[in-house]
Amino acid sequence: MIKRATDMMLGSEGFFGGRDVIWNNSIIATINKQNYKISLERPFIVTVRKSQRGKIMTYALFRDIWYKLTDPDLTLEEVTALIMDIEVKRQKKLDAVMTPSSNKKANREPIPSEVQRAVWRRDGGKCVKCFSGENLHFDHIIPVSKGGSNSVSNIQILCAACNLKKGASIGG
Ligand SMILES: [Zn+2]
Repeated sequence: MIKRATDMMLGSEGFFGGRDVIWNNSIIATINKQNYKISLERPFIVTVRKSQRGKIMTYALFRDIWYKLTDPDLTLEEVTALIMDIEVKRQKKLDAVMTPSSNKKANREPIPSEVQRAVWRRDGGKCVKCFSGENLHFDHIIPVSKGGSNSVSNIQILCAACNLKKGASIGG
């Protein structure tokens, strides 16, 4: 019905022109070589033909973001509600991955014992960098905080000294 458009842009040169002065909560946007005064309070709906023989498409512009409408019969109220829905869901998703509390939760997830055994066997019970057998730790190659998993391929054995060196080189 409606989604963020990836084929429209404001503020760049080109067929759909750019955005200009802001005043009274509205902008002047050049779309299809025509100037429109667009309120930032509600979506602006426009139909455009992107090339001479191209299909006529319906877009909505709201707070500098373009949306593509696959159902051109939606009312302004419906479009507004659908855009709000998209943005609220998007923000929730962003919050979920960005909040430190979710990172902490992931960090506390222990490495399963069968993974520890497999890594120990593969690395021969030694540090993979210096082959030391002392002060060994299971180390995430890609840190959990950067999306690394608790899988055998992402875990290696490091001694405390090599673990410290690694931490210094990748900045934690
Ligand atoms: Zn080592």
